[in-house]
Amino acid sequence: MASDEKFLRMKKYRSRLENAEGYGEVWEIVKATVKSSLNERRVGMMLFLDDLPLRLGAYHSLGTNNIVLNRALVNIVEAASKSKRLINSFVYVLLLHEYLHALGRPREAQVRPLVYKISRESFGSNHITTQLAELGPWSILKGIPLDTMDVPKRVIEIVKDFEKADKKYII
Ligand SMILES: [Zn+2]
Repeated sequence: MASDEKFLRMKKYRSRLENAEGYGEVWEIVKATVKSSLNERRVGMMLFLDDLPLRLGAYHSLGTNNIVLNRALVNIVEAASKSKRLINSFVYVLLLHEYLHALGRPREAQVRPLVYKISRESFGSNHITTQLAELGPWSILKGIPLDTMDVPKRVIEIVKDFEKADKKYII
């Protein structure tokens, strides 16, 4: 790919991520960037929100279409930062990680370097997303005493229209 084209693609992904509203739109960027970098795609995934231990960001159970995202952790990031770009980057990195598992890579040693590679190719090496991919999403929560925090335990919820946002970008 020509470098102009690469630059334009990065610009487009950066602006989409900065402006994304809600999980469905971040998810579309996850799928689009994986398609660009790996030419792989999986549809029909579902997203659930649950309050999990704060050292866990999200998980995907093998053999299901489900990703469960740690709502309590996302809420802490939202409280600590008013930057939509940062919050969306945080969610992007967690969802991208689980998507790569769902695409048939069970091992952390396969997934982690790919999260970094895809982030760098999509947003550039100095973007916050790429930094989170490199240092781990928890790097933005340094100084917050996660181990002593009380996590509210609410009921698990499904994110409605998670994959429906698809259509917005096709038109
Ligand atoms: Zn993992």
